[in-house]
Amino acid sequence: MWSGKKRAVTFSFDDGVRQDVRVVEILNKYGLKGTFNLNSGTLGMGGETNWLPKVVSYARVQAEEVRDVYAGHEVAVHTVNHPHLTKLTDDEIVREVEDDRAALSKLCGYEVIGLAYPCGDYDDRVVELLRTRTGVRYGRGVIGAKDFSLPKEQDLFSFDPTIYFIDEKFEEKVDEFLALDTDEPQMLYIWGHAYELDAELITWEKFEAICKKLAGRSEIFYGTNKEVLL
Ligand SMILES: [Zn+2]
Repeated sequence: MWSGKKRAVTFSFDDGVRQDVRVVEILNKYGLKGTFNLNSGTLGMGGETNWLPKVVSYARVQAEEVRDVYAGHEVAVHTVNHPHLTKLTDDEIVREVEDDRAALSKLCGYEVIGLAYPCGDYDDRVVELLRTRTGVRYGRGVIGAKDFSLPKEQDLFSFDPTIYFIDEKFEEKVDEFLALDTDEPQMLYIWGHAYELDAELITWEKFEAICKKLAGRSEIFYGTNKEVLL
């Protein structure tokens, strides 16, 4: 696991927006890896956000670009239409997940097995359905985790990221992780939406500076979500 290293860093971005292209460029520049959770039902759509402090583009990556834009990283399920899964029937949940998985697997040319819950919304019923009726192997929420511990097998469908990158404690958390001296596997799992960078909830400059700080350490494993978790 992790080429024998004890610490791992991974990123996760939701919604498949065009700003992902710039995020991938930054991750590639610093040898970092991430997972991008896409809604196959909204690929190619245009539009802008009106719920952020600043109006920014909310346009989505085109279906035919998915393979190239995310090459070298992982594509994962964010459901076809981004519903609150807990509000759906069992069959609707399975369809939202498995139809997205099938569509994305076809676009990427490999089997997609990860998932980020739309709006972080899940409960025991959703988890059980994912485990028993889909090909998904892990599911991520949105609440900041308390520490850097790796999710146990039984928590793989209900684990939380370490930190949301618009959190004011983001850099502090990164510094804390870099200062760890550990014999147990520890991960720094960073998530967000790339359009939040255009909205300056975190600036592109700060994001890149933190990527640079995390990069190039021989004692750290840099992987996609599935490489870090499974
Ligand atoms: Zn989302």
